[in-house]
Amino acid sequence: MEKSNGLLIVLSGPSGAGKGTICHELLRQLPDVKYSVSATTRNPRPSEVDGVDYFFRTREEFQSMIQNDELLEWAEFCENYYGTPQFAVEQSLQAGIDVILEIEIQGALQIKKRFPHGVFVFVVPPSLSVLSERIHKRGTESEDVIRKRLETATRELSYVTEYDYVIVNDELDKAVDKLKNILVAEKCRVKRK
Ligand code: 5GP
Repeated sequence: MEKSNGLLIVLSGPSGAGKGTICHELLRQLPDVKYSVSATTRNPRPSEVDGVDYFFRTREEFQSMIQNDELLEWAEFCENYYGTPQFAVEQSLQAGIDVILEIEIQGALQIKKRFPHGVFVFVVPPSLSVLSERIHKRGTESEDVIRKRLETATRELSYVTEYDYVIVNDELDKAVDKLKNILVAEKCRVKRK
């Protein structure tokens, strides 16, 4: 059998739904999966490292990435730009390596047009009050930013039908297992979408 391309996995969900934690844990358990490091214009949080968590860029630098066609997708989210650098993703997929993108919905919809065979997974919190609690606990955003993120989250929840799978993140271990099971199922898939 011919060697096939890697799977492109897109993980979205409201800010605070826990998709970052799920993604982190999946990568720890499946180190062969590659995480696509995004570019963003937002400021780094205290623990974040340039080139590991994000490529932190100025608005001018980000604009030139758009103009030079270096991004697979990009979107504005809560007044900052976020985008997926094209090169690393395509190179990995062609080499048969699975790649995971943790991105918001506008970007996921752009990816869906370019990669209809991608696996689109939506992570939701058990409830909006749990979501609010998680964002507050993280303690990295101001009240104003938290309010905007919660408004965006409420809007985002209605996009679940654009995705192939939904994971309710009430317990981390179970949520990660569900994502691993989705990957196993997709690897065994006979019929393409
Ligand atoms: P945060 O600021 O909390 O790290 O991310 C805010 C939102 O931007 C999250 O929903 C995250 O998934 C999304 N995001 C991160 N990287 C990208 C990207 O490359 N493209 C898009 N469209 N969204 C992204």
